[in-house]
Amino acid sequence: MDLGIAGKKAIVCAASKGLGKACATSLAREGVDVTICARTEETLNAAADEIRALGGGKVQAIACDITTEEGRAAVLDLCPEPDILVNNAGGPPPGDFRDWDRDDWIKAVDANMLTPIFLIKSTVDGMIDRKFGRIVNITSSSVKAPIEILGLSNGARAGLTGFIAGLARKTVRHNVTINGLLPGAFDTDRLRSNLKAHAGKSNATEEEVAAQRAAGIPAGRFGQAYEFGEYCAFLCSAQAGYITGQNCLIDGGNYPGTL
Ligand code: NAD
Repeated sequence: MDLGIAGKKAIVCAASKGLGKACATSLAREGVDVTICARTEETLNAAADEIRALGGGKVQAIACDITTEEGRAAVLDLCPEPDILVNNAGGPPPGDFRDWDRDDWIKAVDANMLTPIFLIKSTVDGMIDRKFGRIVNITSSSVKAPIEILGLSNGARAGLTGFIAGLARKTVRHNVTINGLLPGAFDTDRLRSNLKAHAGKSNATEEEVAAQRAAGIPAGRFGQAYEFGEYCAFLCSAQAGYITGQNCLIDGGNYPGTL
């Protein structure tokens, strides 16, 4: 299926690895010119080269922390008028809420709620004027079914989701959609480091912990990042103009509800 977005411009945040990189890859393959960012220059440039090698849209890369004002300004300098914005950043650490102080909460809210909101604020009016915009917020399945040890993530991402629920209904009239894409367990560096930490606490190997966790998912496996990237590209497609304000789970059937 031709997604009808060749030649469009996209900002994909936190895209040197994992889900962000997969989204940038799928968009570039569709002929979208992508601007990617991440904090570490070396891995970011390696990711940019890998995506360029596919021969799709152009790739620009800028090393920055997207959760800072300077980082966001640097990305917007490079791509001031994006047609597509994929919001992403590292997730907050797990723990017990009794151990978190104000700084821990501010960091989580900054990264997983305010950063996407400020990037949307900087770009959405241009999208409305140009009568095309696709915004995808990478959040988490924890928005739909909270994960107890990820309280910082549950809280900050729920705040973003509530805000978007209102805004997405205002912009769609102008062919600007805003949706959440909610990953379950995807086989990325983040998941692997969580598995390693669990293995360290139990007497099992990382592979044993991984096999046990994957077996508990109806699909019997972890998601692959490219599956996530392709869903993202579809939400950014010309055809997806009637999909807005949705929170799209991609979790191998792990969420147990009927709806
Ligand atoms: P990952 O660790 O594999 O990749 C994270 C990417 O974000 C890297 O490129 C890293 O450099 C970049 N990054 C992190 N913080 C950044 C910052 N402040 N500024 C710029 N770049 C930054 O992680 P992932 O698995 O791809 O996860 C992406 C998001 O999805 C995270 O918020 C994570 O919590 C969430 N998530 C992931 C899963 C999963 O199973 N992988 C499940 C639920 C939610």
